[in-house]
Amino acid sequence: MIAPSETLTPDKEVQDCALFRLMATSDVHANLLPYDYFTDQGDQPYGLSRLATLIKRLRTETANTLLVDNGDMLQGTPLSDFSRTPAPDTAPDTPSEDTLNPIIDAMNALGYDAAGLGNHEFNFGLDWLQRATGQARFPYVASNLTPTCEEDRFWASRLLLRRDVTCASGATYPLTIGLLSLVPPQILTWDRHHLDGHVTCTDMTDIAERLVPALRAEGADLVIVLAHTGFGPEASLPGLENAALPLSRIPGIDGLVTGHIHDVFPGGKALAAPGTEINEAQGRINGTATVMPGFRGSHLGVIEFDLLRCDDRWRLRAATARALPVAPHLADRLPPDPALDARLAPAHHATLAQTRRSIGTTTAPLHSYLSLLGHNPAERLVAGAQRRALARAVEGGPLADLPILSSVAPFKTGGRGGPGYFTDIPAGPLALRHGADLYAFPNTLIGAVVTGREL
Ligand code: MN
Ligand code: MG
Repeated sequence: MIAPSETLTPDKEVQDCALFRLMATSDVHANLLPYDYFTDQGDQPYGLSRLATLIKRLRTETANTLLVDNGDMLQGTPLSDFSRTPAPDTAPDTPSEDTLNPIIDAMNALGYDAAGLGNHEFNFGLDWLQRATGQARFPYVASNLTPTCEEDRFWASRLLLRRDVTCASGATYPLTIGLLSLVPPQILTWDRHHLDGHVTCTDMTDIAERLVPALRAEGADLVIVLAHTGFGPEASLPGLENAALPLSRIPGIDGLVTGHIHDVFPGGKALAAPGTEINEAQGRINGTATVMPGFRGSHLGVIEFDLLRCDDRWRLRAATARALPVAPHLADRLPPDPALDARLAPAHHATLAQTRRSIGTTTAPLHSYLSLLGHNPAERLVAGAQRRALARAVEGGPLADLPILSSVAPFKTGGRGGPGYFTDIPAGPLALRHGADLYAFPNTLIGAVVTGREL
């Protein structure tokens, strides 16, 4: 077992040393190819296919690598949404429920070693998620989820992965990597209609405090926590959504992969937390090597463990983290991986066939600029569509005479998604991709009966 705080005393004999490299993705959100299906434009500066080029390059430098995903991988583009359910009038070769999920297929091809679940993995329901993750040739882990019945026990609560690590001398020794995965307990609210009665979700820090020592006791040489959570309060609070800072204080965690807030660490926006020790140069928070690999495949998280082999066991000399961008500059981008592109071509073309489908025309441009300030024609269109769909659903029933109010939120408004993250549809023909641009989330329309007083 590794004892990072122990200093090497002269009587300990160093036999060998090795570099072990953890590569981590997070919040890829089904951006496999560098393609924007909403604007119908390729060559975007992100995507798993560009990451694949980087992953393969790093693997040529050392054989001692592990590739993991930290969640929010399976949902987020029309490619993920259309591969979930075929549209009603589609060609017979459109993916159906039994078809291999193209995202899992890409992860299998890339040789992922393990993955955790993000909050968006639950958007399409538990049956869908169990089917998708069941196609993975690598284990999924979900440490703070507890199913209410045994048949829903689908993911491991913790993992021990054994890998042979080659040292500088050429000698090889087994390394046991303990892995946890944490998701914000808010999923119980956000996807209540899918999860109610099926799973419970406990606090991320409580579970980590309990399971990190358990992994150590079970023989983990390194403990890595896949935490689908970002930087928030410094102290642990009940039900905390962004718990990365309190997690970094839990003893025994050697590597912490974070995400969820779509930020970058180290090297992103400066992280300011007065009581927190932040080392941007080494990628450490409160002494724990920590990484956050951006959004939609913008960065690969890398944690490097400098291992010593002495007295027939592993010792951790140091751990450092970096977030490597696939597009450090506009003109300087890693090329997409040709093998992954070829593999994804059928799913890509099936998605294009859907997103380019004509759905009508608009006589006025529809955009989301300044939509945070109030009335906006694009949102009015979405509100009208929701109202009509609900009216049709209650037609002829006891609720048919109730007035319908339709609530919409401005979604694409810059911010986290960057300065290009706006809807901007010119007047003219409308394709399905424009509809998806106006409303990018595969949400479920819900009608609630309320009194005027409740409203
Ligand atoms: Mn996300
Ligand atoms: Mg998330």
